[in-house]
Amino acid sequence: MIDNHTDPLPEALSSEAALPSSDHRVIGREMGIFASNPLIGSGLPLWLPGGAIIRRELEQYAHQLAMESGCAEVYSPVLAKQELYQRSGHWAKFADDMFPAMDVGDHDHAGDQLVLRPANCPHHALIFASEQRSYRDLPIRYHEMAAMFRAERSGVLSGLSRVRQINLDDTHVFCRPDQIAQEAELALDCVLRGLTVLGVGIDHLRLSLRDDGDGYLGDDDQWRDAQDQLRGVLDRVGALRPGLQIREAAGEAAFYGPKIDVQVLDARGHQESLATVQVDFNQPERFGLKYVDADGSDRGVIMVHRGVLGAMERMVGFLLEIHDGRLPLWLAPVQLCLLPVHPDHHDHVRRLADRMTAAALRARVESDGTLGRRIRAARKRRDAVLGVVGDAERAADTVSIIDPRADISAVLRSGELIDILGGAASSRAVKINWPQ
Ligand SMILES: [Zn+2]
Repeated sequence: MIDNHTDPLPEALSSEAALPSSDHRVIGREMGIFASNPLIGSGLPLWLPGGAIIRRELEQYAHQLAMESGCAEVYSPVLAKQELYQRSGHWAKFADDMFPAMDVGDHDHAGDQLVLRPANCPHHALIFASEQRSYRDLPIRYHEMAAMFRAERSGVLSGLSRVRQINLDDTHVFCRPDQIAQEAELALDCVLRGLTVLGVGIDHLRLSLRDDGDGYLGDDDQWRDAQDQLRGVLDRVGALRPGLQIREAAGEAAFYGPKIDVQVLDARGHQESLATVQVDFNQPERFGLKYVDADGSDRGVIMVHRGVLGAMERMVGFLLEIHDGRLPLWLAPVQLCLLPVHPDHHDHVRRLADRMTAAALRARVESDGTLGRRIRAARKRRDAVLGVVGDAERAADTVSIIDPRADISAVLRSGELIDILGGAASSRAVKINWPQ
């Protein structure tokens, strides 16, 4: 449903002038991550080259995690007839958050009423429905890097944390009721691996259960079974990861099913759900999604919504803040900023940068201005590693490096530097493993 993966960050600050330096809007400006323009409108950020590098790396990683966990990639359109969202229930519940319908008829004839999608789930439900499914086919997992839309009021929009187009790492699993545990565990394992690689610490896992209130869809047995399966998953995951806290919260379930929320702390120490594994009894029923069981009878499938990295906008904003812009090397827009001490060293440094580029590293050369000013600018831009080259370095084919994130400086042979940075980037290491 619309609120599965992308609860917006609380937006405490409205005026950019008053922003603290730890705000992703300030860091984003210093790093060249995104821009906005009144001609495009609020909540529709333009991704600058630096931000596009981070987003592309995240998308590739999300895709890899999805493929490694048995997902099939799909593509679906960003708009559909209004009827689709009437069927899915989004129209009744979230019409205020959706963009108005576009009539694509002509003067004389009413045409289809098309709507920008408020969620990707209904589209994936229809991909599942495109063929008859047997119990042996399940689970089926569809992954898409998919854009969805929210007609937020312009007053609440800001930076990357609240936007009108949300680009989501989104997966929907269609499974039998007895496969809920295995699918939830697989999803949770992906999330925990992903967040570790991103250097995000987990505060606790929350099992969000129903309470005694009304308004929950699905029968009591279905709920009891799904909640027990998720509790079993958390018992196993907790046993494998000592120190990981697990809590239960009655009344935090969605009305259509229980879920596991991955709770993290943001840069201000506030708790938020960064990822969710959501069981859903409702969407499959609304679309009549069935499979043919071993005895030949039709049975209803269960849907599990999961996002590993979630919304690109929100994740990039979150990472910029918790890392103060000093991202793990594989995400850094500039992995090595090379600084010739004197203009005489420029050609040598340029050739060195070409070697870095050939080794798939993102290198930049800064030659103009005093060395002190260039170093300050590179630090402010959060270039991951700074490399200074003067007479001694040129003669010995070495580079004097500074890693501001680790507060390390050293002199390395240029070949060794390429090996170390290449290794850290390709292995998606959170920290660079410098020689002692
Ligand atoms: Zn979904």
